Amino acid sequence: MSKDLLEKAKTLEPMNPNKSTALFGGESSGILNWNDIAYPHWYKMYKRLIGNYWQADEVNMSDDLRQFASLTDEEQDAYLKIIGLLSTLDAPQTRTALLLSLYATDPSVQSIMAVIAQQEAVHNESYSYVLSSVVSFDEQNASFQLGRTDPVLLERNEMIMRQYNAFVEEPSVENILKTLVYTSLLEGMFFYSGFAFFYHLARQNKMVGTSTMISYINRDELEHGRFIAELFRATLHENPDLNTGEFSDWVYSRFSESVDLEIEWSTYVLGNIDGIDLDEMAGYIKYRANKMLRMIGLDDIYPEHTENPMKWIRAYADNFDSTKTDFFEQKSRQYTKTSDLNGFDDL
Ligand code: ZN
Ligand code: ZN
Repeated sequence: MSKDLLEKAKTLEPMNPNKSTALFGGESSGILNWNDIAYPHWYKMYKRLIGNYWQADEVNMSDDLRQFASLTDEEQDAYLKIIGLLSTLDAPQTRTALLLSLYATDPSVQSIMAVIAQQEAVHNESYSYVLSSVVSFDEQNASFQLGRTDPVLLERNEMIMRQYNAFVEEPSVENILKTLVYTSLLEGMFFYSGFAFFYHLARQNKMVGTSTMISYINRDELEHGRFIAELFRATLHENPDLNTGEFSDWVYSRFSESVDLEIEWSTYVLGNIDGIDLDEMAGYIKYRANKMLRMIGLDDIYPEHTENPMKWIRAYADNFDSTKTDFFEQKSRQYTKTSDLNGFDDL
């Protein structure tokens, strides 16, 4: 595979055309006319992303503050560990979106990445916000230290950390594609056992403020995952020399390795939580992995997990298609019934 290093895209270059000649390593003037872009349907993705705008402190945490002390010790521990995990995974997303944008020679990609980066900044703020609402400053800090200190978490994040840093040191198209693979794993799978824990609490009417916040993050991540998968497929299509059997084998290996680590992590963090079935969670993780593989143009690797085994989770996604005003009314969420008929299969 090619190791040719890319240069950062020029900011303005009037000699180049407005419509880019390639996503990475091409030419463009830097002027963005959304009606003259290389992948016209990406305008819709941009509009969907920007339509999801929200801010952390729009969510009322007063009930959660009262309820946190009544959670079992195991639930409190999992709550803090999972926020620690989410903050560790989401922190690099703001910067990785920026880095992809710096090397993208297509101005529509730069703008979409700017919106994604802004949303990742809000996600990170929201983890500080929920923790500062429910625990002391020392406990908040302890949770944010986990990504640096917890051995299971460190092992779980090792591969993604290596790939993200490799892209910083060697900005090649190959490393961009590999970074996009990890980004789609992150946006489409790594977060989801953590999300499921908060929906499990909300299902018992516990910590509904936190789960509302998690729903917003979840909605953003699904949209990010969709765009990252599009960007991956388009970049691979533009670089056919990298589209090899060896590379798809690499992707399949990263997926199965990540699924194993994710199952190990969910057992570690959710093993003592009443009402969570770990086999079902493992099935859910495999279902999410299949889904992301299909989105990036590959095949399922877990043929026995093509259906979501945790259908109740869909209840927490019912409002994703509603207007923002409805979505912010937490009370309607609490009465939402699980239904298999709503057709929502993204979770
Ligand atoms: Zn995020
Ligand atoms: Zn994201």
